[in-house]
Amino acid sequence: MNPRIGTMVRLQQNGPSFDHLVAAGLRCCQLVSWEPSLWTPECAARLKNQIATYDLRVTAFWAGWPGPAIWNLVDGPRTLGLLPQEYRAIRVASLKRAADFAHLVGLPAIITHVGFVPEEPANPLFHELVATVRDIALYADQLGLQFWFETGQETPVTLLRLILSVNTPNLGINLDPANLILYGKGNPIDALDVFGSYVRNVHAKDAFYPTDPMQLGREVKVGEGRVRFPEFVRRLEDIGFTGEYIIEREISGNHQHRDILDTIHYLDRLLTPHT
Ligand code: MG
Repeated sequence: MNPRIGTMVRLQQNGPSFDHLVAAGLRCCQLVSWEPSLWTPECAARLKNQIATYDLRVTAFWAGWPGPAIWNLVDGPRTLGLLPQEYRAIRVASLKRAADFAHLVGLPAIITHVGFVPEEPANPLFHELVATVRDIALYADQLGLQFWFETGQETPVTLLRLILSVNTPNLGINLDPANLILYGKGNPIDALDVFGSYVRNVHAKDAFYPTDPMQLGREVKVGEGRVRFPEFVRRLEDIGFTGEYIIEREISGNHQHRDILDTIHYLDRLLTPHT
């Protein structure tokens, strides 16, 4: 199995369960949590132990933030990430706690959605966002951590503008190609022309574009949507991407498990074409 293939593993009350990951023959994952109450030194110590026992590589901590989150094109801009003024301070504090936790576990990076980044450089909200992200990124940098943007709620050019404006040394992109499609913000293969050199991890996820302009498009199993995975992976490898492909399938139960197993083999074939 290609060692660059991994999945998302959710942090839970009694620590995450790595059983599915290991049973699938994988040793690589991103840890995800929207529950700051779990980000304790005790949990970090337990986690560190498990990571060593299973000999895992955890590439990043994907941290959510408190307050409402409405994942559509109408209410998303006023609820998601660091844009909404009423939740900004509490979310900044929470992301700094996430950085503390990642540092305690010994992980290299934190990831989040910063929200619908304003597309106009002169928009005052864009400047507020730059200052807010810089505050968090500098905090992470001081702990030796990278800060990676999860893509999708902004066009690739706007994300590049945000990175260059924040201008700290530890910024990168967690490229979710399906999100660019789900939010109707761009073609993920062409996006590599814009911000390819900043891509550190990839979410292996697929989707169709929105047909209802108020709602996101439809997420599907990798290989069945509009990402065009063979071309996408080839282009990433051509530009020198050496990071991990972390599988995401945003459904639950047996169906999710089956699709993830299929995707592991699908990606393995794409990354190692002659086996
Ligand atoms: Mg994602």
